[in-house]
Amino acid sequence: MSEALNVEKIFAEKVFTVAKMKERLPKKVFQEVMRVMNQGGELKMATADVVAKAMKDWAVENGATHFTHWFQPLTGITAEKHDSFVSHPDEEGRMLMEFSGKELIKGEPDASSFPSGGLRATFEARGYTAWDITSPCFLKESGCGTILCIPTAFCSYTGEALDKKTPLLRSMEALSEQALRIVRLFGNTEATKVTASVGPEQEYFLVDKDLFFQRKDLMFAGRTLFGAPAPKGQEMEDHYFGVIKERVGAYMKDLNEELWKLGVTAKTQHNEVAPAQHELAPIYETANIAVDHNQLVMEAMKRVAYKHDLRCLLHEKPYAGVNGSGKHNNWSITTDNGVNLLDPGDTPNKNIQFLLVLACIMKAVDTHADLLRQSASDVGNDHRLGANEAPPAIISIFLGDQLEDVVKQLVETGDASRVLAGGKLEAGVSTLPKFEKDATDRNRTSPFAFTGNKFEFRMVGSADSIASPNTTLNAIVAEAFCEAADVLEKAKAEGGFDNAVHDLIKEYMTKHQRIVFNGDGYSDKWVEEAARRGLPNIKSMIEAASTITTEKAVALFEKFGIFTRVELESREEIIYETYAKTINIEALTMVDMASKDIIPAVASYAGDLANSVIAIKEAGATAAAQVEILNEVDSLLAEAKSALNKLIAEESKAAAISDVKEQAFYYKDVVKTAMDALRAPIDKLEMLVDGSVWPIPTYGDLMFEV
Ligand code: ADP
Ligand code: MG
Repeated sequence: MSEALNVEKIFAEKVFTVAKMKERLPKKVFQEVMRVMNQGGELKMATADVVAKAMKDWAVENGATHFTHWFQPLTGITAEKHDSFVSHPDEEGRMLMEFSGKELIKGEPDASSFPSGGLRATFEARGYTAWDITSPCFLKESGCGTILCIPTAFCSYTGEALDKKTPLLRSMEALSEQALRIVRLFGNTEATKVTASVGPEQEYFLVDKDLFFQRKDLMFAGRTLFGAPAPKGQEMEDHYFGVIKERVGAYMKDLNEELWKLGVTAKTQHNEVAPAQHELAPIYETANIAVDHNQLVMEAMKRVAYKHDLRCLLHEKPYAGVNGSGKHNNWSITTDNGVNLLDPGDTPNKNIQFLLVLACIMKAVDTHADLLRQSASDVGNDHRLGANEAPPAIISIFLGDQLEDVVKQLVETGDASRVLAGGKLEAGVSTLPKFEKDATDRNRTSPFAFTGNKFEFRMVGSADSIASPNTTLNAIVAEAFCEAADVLEKAKAEGGFDNAVHDLIKEYMTKHQRIVFNGDGYSDKWVEEAARRGLPNIKSMIEAASTITTEKAVALFEKFGIFTRVELESREEIIYETYAKTINIEALTMVDMASKDIIPAVASYAGDLANSVIAIKEAGATAAAQVEILNEVDSLLAEAKSALNKLIAEESKAAAISDVKEQAFYYKDVVKTAMDALRAPIDKLEMLVDGSVWPIPTYGDLMFEV
């Protein structure tokens, strides 16, 4: 038996938890910290000094030498700049490790090289980081030693958000404020705050380290740019939930341990649909902490892979022809007196507060379907959304039979007297337990599905930060709550609340019913049907980019102080920039692989083949098969070479375009097409030439040798 892991003991051992603060801080200081954590406001500098000292002592006791303000710039990943606790030695050369309150709460990393979309000219390179007291500090161990990480927001000198966290925090406050107005209308006087909770299910691929390093495309682009399908893919459906291979299991075990120590509640793990694809889900938590933790999950996935001579691929589409990876973003809203606003109860038809919330969400999602779709876009996700794969690029809501029926009754008659019950599940075997089943089955093809007491937003990409999708969700729902509360507060003051709420639910549901779709989201029929309903079908990341600067979007985000127009414009610009840079890297990698590795290997194979044809013919045979292969290879090689020339030419044209938007579209429309044209003959050649001469590992090697 292996030594038992005491999970309770190691859980959050690397986190400066509330319990540790309680133990280490004077009572008054602790109380002030808790007050700011729960209700907002500012810590007094004297208090911050005491907290910093306690935090530093704890960190140093646990081996830390440095601290860092850990932030999330617009690259979508995290950033850190380490400062040691070392201070100026005294006259006798003694040095004491120091960390002040000021250093804890505020930082000024130069950090001028992050994308800012023009928000911040490099010559006035002031960017500030500010402690997000609501997300716990933690210790990160790496080759650099142990670093105390302080989760922070990152803003410019003039207060513009330069990161993904600041708008998220702003959206959480907006949602809380507006949701409180709703629950107050229904007599909830106890709640003081409403919190968005998020549980992200993270998908990923593993690949052997040695094979990874033989593929420049995996190294530089995180996905394969060439590759014929393996004889076996996912068609047997034997990988999904299958027995976990030993090496992968050992990886998962270490990953869990690492995450538990960081206070991340790693909960489920399983094999996913594609070979070498897996998933991990933590237990849901407050949105900003879930966002931070998801970054830690992604980082840990990569770090732990090193220890097992593996590499973790978070790209949305590492391999063509098998499923890509996403991140199901489970989202709900709960009051601090324990009411989940998305919990329908047993009789949703009578739960007026729930119906109002549902009506508001239908309205929000329908009104801002474009924004929601945009919030889940990144370069890799273009291979999933709308590209014959889960989920479609069209936003719709799946409600399930029970709620759809309630909505239908409300729309048709203004009253929902009936509710479909779940009934008992009968397996037809007397020894199996019979249990109550949910009134609603699952729908796996919906991008935004109601799943019991939460919505599951399934569009998000596996490599992406979940900050934007949650910022957008919070914002659009806050707006719908606000508009409903404006009407209903007035009605209540006039004594007509019951009728007003009834009418409003009916009005919203009727107007926005078109966003509800319970059928197969992957079918072509749905694409046509959605077009008839007037629902947007935005095909790519860069086509979605301009949705954030429409008047509708600016009005929404400015109203709730989540983004200013300037912040939105800068983000749009960054989207184009990011897209162009990414495709540029992919194109250059393809050019490199094709011209240095693949074409030379095939050319030399063709030479060998030609020599053997000559030899065989000299010996008096026809060499018919060899001649046939030689002709095919020769013609595909010519096709590949001319496609390569074209790609090189188009890539340099694209690189020379100065307008970022125009450039991004050139990459999408022209360069990507040229990339596809190069890939096609090369993938065919891979199937044709002698396996031993193919210069890079094949799909079969990559996906099955883990
Ligand atoms: P499935 O794959 O069946 O959707 P998982 O267990 O893999 O389910 O993941 C479900 C995720 O949803 C988990 O992260 C879970 O903690 C989260 N979740 C459950 N209830 C809620 C809720 N009320 N609000 C937000 N997230 C939730
Ligand atoms: Mg799920």
